[in-house]
Amino acid sequence: MNGRTVDVAIVGGGLVGMTAALACADRGLTVALSAATRPGSASGAAAGMLAPSTEGATAPVAAFASACRDAWPPYLDQLAGRSGRRVALNRLGILQVPADEGGAGRLRAAAGAGSDWLTPLQAAELEPGIVAPLGALLHERDGAVDNEHLLLALDEAIGATDHVASAGEARGIRLGRGTAELLLADGGTIAAGRLVVAAGAWVSQLEGLPRAIPVVPVRGQMIGFAAAPVRHVIHGPGAYVVPRPAGRTIVGATMEHAGFDAGTSPEAATRLADAAGRLAPGLAGLPVMEHWAGLRPTTPDQLPILGPDPEHGTVLYACGHSRNGILMAPLTAECIAALASGVPSPWPLEPFSVARFG
Ligand SMILES: Cc1cc2nc3c(=O)[nH]c(=O)nc-3n(C[C@H](O)[C@H](O)[C@H](O)COP(=O)(O)OP(=O)(O)OC[C@H]3O[C@@H](n4cnc5c(N)ncnc54)[C@H](O)[C@@H]3O)c2cc1C
Repeated sequence: MNGRTVDVAIVGGGLVGMTAALACADRGLTVALSAATRPGSASGAAAGMLAPSTEGATAPVAAFASACRDAWPPYLDQLAGRSGRRVALNRLGILQVPADEGGAGRLRAAAGAGSDWLTPLQAAELEPGIVAPLGALLHERDGAVDNEHLLLALDEAIGATDHVASAGEARGIRLGRGTAELLLADGGTIAAGRLVVAAGAWVSQLEGLPRAIPVVPVRGQMIGFAAAPVRHVIHGPGAYVVPRPAGRTIVGATMEHAGFDAGTSPEAATRLADAAGRLAPGLAGLPVMEHWAGLRPTTPDQLPILGPDPEHGTVLYACGHSRNGILMAPLTAECIAALASGVPSPWPLEPFSVARFG
């Protein structure tokens, strides 16, 4: 790769970088995908929930988040065609279970387009595996994607296109007048028409960015059980519970400011297991089979940073997706690929501009 010129160089081989690379390749662009292995990469560690309705975003962010969710079924159909892998998508809806009467009142008030309030009896009929004595709010169109399998499918789809070449770890970027270079950790360089910054929680470590990017790591610990007591994704007090294929259930997640430490703690596993057992009694007392952590690339307002740098249009940001990077990946990729091809983004990106941080 060293010394080559490509249309687009992307830093970061997580879900955001991979989906952007494929979308650019689909537009006929040549891509260098710079990927390093950092402990705590978020995309494989995530729960895979597609949950715009539980995030409480206001328009136009809520509209973008819902469109992202609805982009997943056709995206996975297309990915199955090119990778041979059918990635599991759960669209039974997400059940949001309140902690107390006050919470139940707030959820009841939030019922409306796409979200139905269920009485305790209705909740028990729909999902016998949970305890919801105050009722629950069903977000009908939300769900979850199997993000672990998804990364394998993307890897294969990328391997099958000759438009994307792998590059190693990046040290940073170098910008000249209308020129852009990716600087590799091994001393090599790649000249690119556009540079896409998609390095997850590690964005601020890249040298040569035109400005400071306010993305910090927020650690999330998850646990997994070898049991499948629920069919729906359940969002409840102290934990969420996500059914996975092959009789597995995962539970998350903590929110911890621990720098780049992607370690786990027994206390967190116990807290998550207890909360999960209260929500879904079929999990109570079961051994925790898996325990891991990932680093969410988090911005001050929890919204991603998408689109061009205001002063250096060759730099495109696709980072800071915080808690919703799985949800937002396919439309993020479409917007970035459009901009990289020199056409307007299909979605207005003003709410996500880096300029909002001044
Ligand atoms: C526990 C947990 C649960 C989550 N649950 C959900 C959920 O249910 N739904 C949802 O939508 N989102 C969820 N998220 C958030 C989501 O995982 C992230 O927003 C998303 O994965 C971010 O993707 P990314 O590609 O930007 O970052 P990452 O997946 O972290 O990828 C960034 C990549 O860049 C690489 N990199 C870093 N520096 C360099 C460099 N110098 N050179 C080359 N490569 C580099 C890293 O090695 C890494 O592989 C969760 C996150 C966590 C941690």
